[in-house]
Amino acid sequence: MKVVKFGGSSLASATQLEKVLNIVKSDSERKFVVVSAPGKRDQADTKVTDALIKYYRAYVEEGDVTPHQEWIINRYAQMIEELELKPVVLEKITKSILNLATLPIEDNLFLYDSFLAAGENNNAKLVAAFFNKNGLNARYIHPKDAGIFVSSEPGNARILPSSYDKIEELTNFEEVLVIPGFFGVTKDNQICTFSRGGSDITGSIIAAGVKADLYENFTDVDGIFAAHPGIIHEPDSIPELTYREMRELAYAGFSVLHDEALIPAYRGKIPLVIKNTNNPNHPGTKIILNHTDKAIPVVGIAGDSNFVSINMSKYLMNREVGFGRKVLQILEELNIRWEHMPTGIDDLSIILRESELTPIKEEEILRQLRQKIEVDHAEIEHGLSIIMIVGEQMKSHIGLTATATKALSDNKINIQMISQGSSEVSIMLVVNSEQEKAAIKALYEAFFNKHKKLEV
Ligand code: ASP
Repeated sequence: MKVVKFGGSSLASATQLEKVLNIVKSDSERKFVVVSAPGKRDQADTKVTDALIKYYRAYVEEGDVTPHQEWIINRYAQMIEELELKPVVLEKITKSILNLATLPIEDNLFLYDSFLAAGENNNAKLVAAFFNKNGLNARYIHPKDAGIFVSSEPGNARILPSSYDKIEELTNFEEVLVIPGFFGVTKDNQICTFSRGGSDITGSIIAAGVKADLYENFTDVDGIFAAHPGIIHEPDSIPELTYREMRELAYAGFSVLHDEALIPAYRGKIPLVIKNTNNPNHPGTKIILNHTDKAIPVVGIAGDSNFVSINMSKYLMNREVGFGRKVLQILEELNIRWEHMPTGIDDLSIILRESELTPIKEEEILRQLRQKIEVDHAEIEHGLSIIMIVGEQMKSHIGLTATATKALSDNKINIQMISQGSSEVSIMLVVNSEQEKAAIKALYEAFFNKHKKLEV
């Protein structure tokens, strides 16, 4: 049994829906189909979810909701017409979109979520009708009936562990089930969404719940690339990644899949594959628990900017009991999350995301470091990028850091900091943001192009 999730661009038009139908029909194991709301047809287009946000704003600010309602209904109407579906499909969708503007505004924590969820919910109805018309026995199922019960956290729901037993019962259905992604219901029957892009999470939850053999996540790229295609021209696509490698790459900016989507599939030990709706014969990228064969040591190189480093030094720091705790306490009291903490004998740096700081917080940190902890020197350095060289097999290879540092020094790139966790899944380098792209290019050349030349 397979769970298949289609993203917004795969469901944006009648042409795309034909591809989706062929994909589902071509494999009888594809029993559960999770859908996003219709996405963009081209760069200038608007996603239905974004249109629903505008509709919500007009409604709560008592503006004119009609143009928003018309735009959204028309978006579905166009597809329904092209796919020659029965008028009743459009009637139901129209009713549901208009109904949103009758929901109570006062004391309704879940109003925004109800608007957003309508994108996926109506699309699932449309897709199920389309499947049935084309000889695929399908059934639309609401997340409540599917058993997707979530915490009461509007816009950021989490699945309740008790949901999984009910979800498993979905295996009793004969039909292909079409399930809207992105939301669940709370115990008090309120619609509550995951964070944006959350249909990936629904797919993962269903896959874990029905104990699928595979979770196929269909998007519009041939899987995950070894480096960002905006930086490296036609980078290799990665055939196989472990969950841990994916987590490291996602952390540093690889955003093909929603971060939280990995968790249910990972816990359920379900392999996941990222595939392209527009090129379904491409094998895509498989995300698994452990590599099947001897994978290459470095699977990908990711980079992310907008990092800051709080640097401090104090003579004989290593002898002072509790120094690290005091520093971290300053951050904790200011409600600041930090990411990495490379240290020397008498110096320590804390790397965090720029968004965690404000000028006032920065001043306060420096003041406390100087006055409370009496450091000799403290400064805050902006404009940093982190580069992650990722690969689980790095631990069984010697000299990878040497390859990386040589590639960077040959290209006159200064490494500000370097760190490797004990699990050796990644090597993290900190460089000046102006040199980030050049660093990724140099590292890609060293690990991938050189590797290719060696293979020849
Ligand atoms: N439609 C939602 C969004 O745009 C969820 C999704 O597509 O996964 O965020």
